[in-house]
Amino acid sequence: MNNSGNRGLYIHVPFCVRKCPYCDFYSLPGETALYSGYAQAVKRNLSYYSERFDTVYFGGGTPNLIAPYMAEILSAADIAPGAEITAECNPASATAETLAEMRAAGINRLSVGVQSLQDAELKKLGRLHNADEAEALILAAEKAGFGSISADVILGVPGQTAESLSDTLQRLGKLPIQHISAYMLTLEPATPFGKNPPLDMADDEKMADLYALCQKLCEELGFHQYEISNFAREGFQCRHNLKYWRDEEYLGIGPAAHSFYEEKRFAVPKDLPGFINAPRQTTEITDDSPGDYDERVMMGLRLAEGIPEELYKPLLPGLKLLPPEYWALESGRLRLTSAGFPLYNYIVSLLLAHTE
Ligand code: SF4
Repeated sequence: MNNSGNRGLYIHVPFCVRKCPYCDFYSLPGETALYSGYAQAVKRNLSYYSERFDTVYFGGGTPNLIAPYMAEILSAADIAPGAEITAECNPASATAETLAEMRAAGINRLSVGVQSLQDAELKKLGRLHNADEAEALILAAEKAGFGSISADVILGVPGQTAESLSDTLQRLGKLPIQHISAYMLTLEPATPFGKNPPLDMADDEKMADLYALCQKLCEELGFHQYEISNFAREGFQCRHNLKYWRDEEYLGIGPAAHSFYEEKRFAVPKDLPGFINAPRQTTEITDDSPGDYDERVMMGLRLAEGIPEELYKPLLPGLKLLPPEYWALESGRLRLTSAGFPLYNYIVSLLLAHTE
């Protein structure tokens, strides 16, 4: 195991109010009657583990929908003092009451699905909230005592321009947030967007421009890039997600949850009733020899901290083929520069194709 400390715990919450047309995460709309049974099943599954977790992440789906159950779920796990406990939160359904419940349950980090602060873009994305509601939720979260708040934004929203992205990021910079995740919109084949792509989707060139603009503005606003898609104020990197990129272990509970646990990667089937009714969640092995060389290079080069010498040494022949502005060798580590990050896929395949 490549762990420096305890494992992380991921809990997949498979509920949403309505499906957004671009999203292929496993979640079901309108299944409110199943919240309680789901929460009991999560607790039951946690009871099989006695180990201590130092990060917890409620992802989804829309985790705030099960806020009333979070305290009992967390009470079923052994959580280290000072653990980072994150919940994703949707401005369309989270209320002041939800925020208070989550705080009381011990959630100390919120990841808010803002996506954009332009109403026209939110409409294109089929989101159920507007920009004012997203801003209001962040302010209410600060008032409720959350001192670590992240905002998700989407790059390449149909119709997005440099000006509109800049306005979104500038407005975010004025809010009490410490972290920004910026993901490029991709067309997932099984979604309405995948089947019927919007005509004004950003092409590769535009996406690259939006990404570069996002890197520049986040830095100017004091959010430093620590991973390809993630930017944080000093000391506010997401500890849970760092475990994924550092190839450390975590346990996933809930339908569609993935795990890297006891040197195996496995996934829980996307079957909510099956999860609720089974005494213990079923799992399917997805990789029985994880953590191989290529995987560690790929994960590690996503991070601004890069990779240590024992990993980068075999990559030296490939590095000679790359312009020097894309990478840096410093303090015994190889990392991509901000100019290199947009070319991550190209650079990593080139390096791995020329190992010695
Ligand atoms: S984007 Fe978020 S709110 Fe929309 S369907 Fe996906 S998980 Fe649910």
